Amino acid sequence: MQSALGAGGPRRLLKRLRDLMAAGATGQQKLDQIVKIIAADFVAEVCSVYVMRPGNILELFATQGLKQEAVHQTRLNVGEGLVGDIAAHARALALSDAQSHPNFAYRPETGEEIYHSLLGVPVLRGGRVLGVLAVQNRTFRDYAEEEIETLQTVAMVLAELVASGDLVALDEMQPTEGIALLPARIEGIRLNEGIAMGRAVLHQPRVTIRQMVAEDPAAELVRLKDAVAGMHSAIDDMLASTGLAEDGEHREILESYRMFAEDRGWLTRITEAVNTGLTAEAAVQKVQDDTRARMSQITDPYLRERLADLEDLANRLLQHLTGDRGATRETRLPDDAVLFARSMGPAELLDYDRRKLKAVVLEEGSPTAHVAIIARALDIPMVGRVKDILIRIETGDPVVVDGDNAQVILRPGEDARDAYAAAIRGRAEKQAIYATLRDLPAVTRDGTAVSLNLNAGLLIDLGQLHESGAEGVGLYRTEIPFMIRSSFPDVATQIDLYRKILDRADGRPVVFRTLDVGGDKVLPYFDTADDENPAMGWRAIRIALDRPLMLREQLRALLRAAGGRQLDVMFPMVAEVAEFDAARALLDLEVERERARGRELPATIRVGVMIEVPALFWQLPVLLTRVDFVSVGSNDLVQFLFASDRGNPRLVDRYDVLSPPVLNFFRALVAPCDKASVPITLCGEMGSRPLEAMALIGIGFRRLSMPASAIPPIKAMTRSLDLPPLVRYLDTLVGRPDHSLRENLRAFARDRRIVL
Ligand code: PEP
Ligand code: MG
Repeated sequence: MQSALGAGGPRRLLKRLRDLMAAGATGQQKLDQIVKIIAADFVAEVCSVYVMRPGNILELFATQGLKQEAVHQTRLNVGEGLVGDIAAHARALALSDAQSHPNFAYRPETGEEIYHSLLGVPVLRGGRVLGVLAVQNRTFRDYAEEEIETLQTVAMVLAELVASGDLVALDEMQPTEGIALLPARIEGIRLNEGIAMGRAVLHQPRVTIRQMVAEDPAAELVRLKDAVAGMHSAIDDMLASTGLAEDGEHREILESYRMFAEDRGWLTRITEAVNTGLTAEAAVQKVQDDTRARMSQITDPYLRERLADLEDLANRLLQHLTGDRGATRETRLPDDAVLFARSMGPAELLDYDRRKLKAVVLEEGSPTAHVAIIARALDIPMVGRVKDILIRIETGDPVVVDGDNAQVILRPGEDARDAYAAAIRGRAEKQAIYATLRDLPAVTRDGTAVSLNLNAGLLIDLGQLHESGAEGVGLYRTEIPFMIRSSFPDVATQIDLYRKILDRADGRPVVFRTLDVGGDKVLPYFDTADDENPAMGWRAIRIALDRPLMLREQLRALLRAAGGRQLDVMFPMVAEVAEFDAARALLDLEVERERARGRELPATIRVGVMIEVPALFWQLPVLLTRVDFVSVGSNDLVQFLFASDRGNPRLVDRYDVLSPPVLNFFRALVAPCDKASVPITLCGEMGSRPLEAMALIGIGFRRLSMPASAIPPIKAMTRSLDLPPLVRYLDTLVGRPDHSLRENLRAFARDRRIVL
């Protein structure tokens, strides 16, 4: 499509806008001129600007072509009409026949029924929609890609005008309207444990761009080049001096970040934006705005991570260009800073002074997000997926971050502050007590030994193995390191990883679970089908048996990594013995292959299975003759037992694991295993809560596996427990018709001073 842009293209348009912005007129006068200039340049009959007002209302602020009476009268809700749609999705719309679009909303006062085509773009600043800029034509016009780009660039200039406070009062720009500054408790997900109190600091380093349109584009290209070079060497310096351990996924993440800084595509897009007439800063910001707009649409976890990296880099580059570097992060940081961000790149966290940074809160994030892995490596409490937190927090607000319980308390009242100060002291005291427990055995008062093991997924988790006093790793989720990579790790990479894990475990057993992907665990580079019920879909062993090469390579890597040592391996989500046999046959094939090649095999190989699908229970007698151990994945097993999705927030409290069906079922599982002398472990989350663990020990479990933070409290509980009365009490409980046995068990523990 041929562009209709006036001669001279975007550069000339931008220059005119710059001259206009520099003129001594009011904001409204400038806006009235801007719509005229744009309409003329785009050869469009209409150009309108809508500005966001309190309550998510878009108000028509200026127009060329629509009726002037509509200005400041026409108001649309975000999401309403095409303009509202552009704002709601923060994305451009180019429609040759706008009226046939399902979202078209006709406003008689504007007289726009005669215009057929529409091109609209969001006015974005700092990832926030400040308004919408739109042009319309009478004819059915197809807008060219270049025109969309140009309108987006113009929208950036507009964003500066809106944000300047000349059009609407600046305090209106603060999106805290309607939300009283009252204490609030907001839930998220735990990204790293720990509790901290401090003062809120907004991460977003608001670099102020003073000039959007370039005086001398050639000089801007030179500035850009210098800033990129400066940024590269600063990143190298930073990564060389992080004080982080040499080894582990965090290193790999930072290395790939460094490579990203040299990404040609990203730098080319910035250069192109400079070529349209923007200053280097404005060009970086434009590309960053585009990235953010795309980010809000993307659900793919890997791509989201990459975009977070890009945002991190864009901020960094802006700081190099404006010379603002470090000003926001070092000098203004209070001694008890709690950082708030929508998302963050991994290197951004390293910019902060670790001694002053007490906790981090993110609107987004997931346990495998790069920044979360760095936070764990640095031991900073972190809570993620805290909805709308950025619009509820102000710099300097007192906050509590409770990473243990995945919640954030904003502006806590005096009582809450005292309570949390006490909780932090109590936690420190508990940690001191736990440290004394570390080398003591987990034995009940009557002398029954319970083996407590660690659930791990990353190399850095292994650091906890010795600190927590765990006997070994009861569940190593091999999919976790796969999830943070950009491509499928080959055999050599896997060998290296598994070998490091065994080295770190230093003789303690590690149970490797083969890949459990699918369900909620997505590998960005592996296309699992769009199952309607992913938890019951093509996942785990089902994928492995359909794609045997993947499993064989993993088993090969495990065998080699464990050469001369003990290898424990188990298969997830097995539903029938035939599946176990098929997986085992692949292992045997690999063992033969290694033997034929004269490679050193593991000294012993123990093969187990996870019990996560109820069907397997009905094959226990024959299963138990084939396996060396079993491990109960209670997270999955319970969801299938109750037919209740473990990820559905509406169902979290619907059924209780401390209920007759679960305890009866688990008891029926343990007994035949004991009889067959097959060790049975429980490795789901259930085992990490003291009351639940008490019940599990009461019905016969002697091995539990859990996250590191749970081991000391479970050990303390175990050591305070006298088992025979509990066993007798449970006998009386499990036949009851109750929905939950929780309160009965809690009362039992209280009466007998069991430490929960
Ligand atoms: C489980 O299902 O209990 C389990 C340990 O596996 P995951 O949580 O990794 O699915
Ligand atoms: Mg599971």
